Amino acid sequence: MDRPAWAPEGVDMQQASPARMYDALLGGSHNFDVDRKAAELGKQLVPDLPRVALSNRAFLRRAVRFLVDAGVRQFLDIGSGIPTAGNVHEVAQQIDPEIRVLYADIDPVAVAHSKAILHGNDRAAAIEADLRKPEELLGKVRETGLIDFEQPVGVLMVAVLHLLSDDDAPAERVAAVRDAVPSGSYLAISHLTSELRPEDAAQLGANAAQQSKIGIHFRPAAAITAMFDGWDLVEPGVVELPAWRPESERDHHEAPGRSLGLAGVGRKG
Ligand code: SAM
Repeated sequence: MDRPAWAPEGVDMQQASPARMYDALLGGSHNFDVDRKAAELGKQLVPDLPRVALSNRAFLRRAVRFLVDAGVRQFLDIGSGIPTAGNVHEVAQQIDPEIRVLYADIDPVAVAHSKAILHGNDRAAAIEADLRKPEELLGKVRETGLIDFEQPVGVLMVAVLHLLSDDDAPAERVAAVRDAVPSGSYLAISHLTSELRPEDAAQLGANAAQQSKIGIHFRPAAAITAMFDGWDLVEPGVVELPAWRPESERDHHEAPGRSLGLAGVGRKG
């Protein structure tokens, strides 16, 4: 397979990546055969997997609108993914064009495509950075000059923390970012869970481990809630993806009790 123009040199086209598998699930076009195959295997195991991805994107959009309403004027989106419908800068800048958005992702395809679509937007940028190295990540964020650490930041960690193993200490990585942002900042998290559909979670976890070097770590609700240590959870707390402040019937992608993801938003007091 020839290397497409959007794939930077050095990207292994034989190895599935979570960013491109997720893009494939959402019907995007920045993925390779190996990613589509992995996503397809996931769908065979759990046919409603694309709905979970859509439900997660819908949570992201609602959380961004909620934070803009709460006064947030700058976003740091960590594990931002390959741009697709309803990107953070589109949702936020539609409400207030002055809002600044910095995307950070470990995946070179995600970063390259983000940079391409942000060309000409001086209030949004993308950096390649690893959440497992928060000090390095925060250093890169500071270098951009886009985020003012004296003002509240809307930190987004949407569908990324389940890609960190327990050894990667996800709660500690969240805490490092919490300590860097001022009071009045917000944190939005969504995370795949083993709470409601443990068998499906176990099958998908095993499939991901086989298909990609990066595993998916479905966690119980208590572990996800614990990631909000030092943040005051806003209503309704950590809940199933569609149950977090739904705005319309269209937000109910999954029936109650059937979501594979939990979500919440907290405010640093
Ligand atoms: N946040 C977007 C959303 O919810 O639609 C994209 C989520 S996508 C499932 C997860 C993203 O996290 C991928 O783009 C992946 O490359 C990125 N990621 C995984 N591990 C990461 C890490 N250690 N640091 C930064 N990004 C990471």
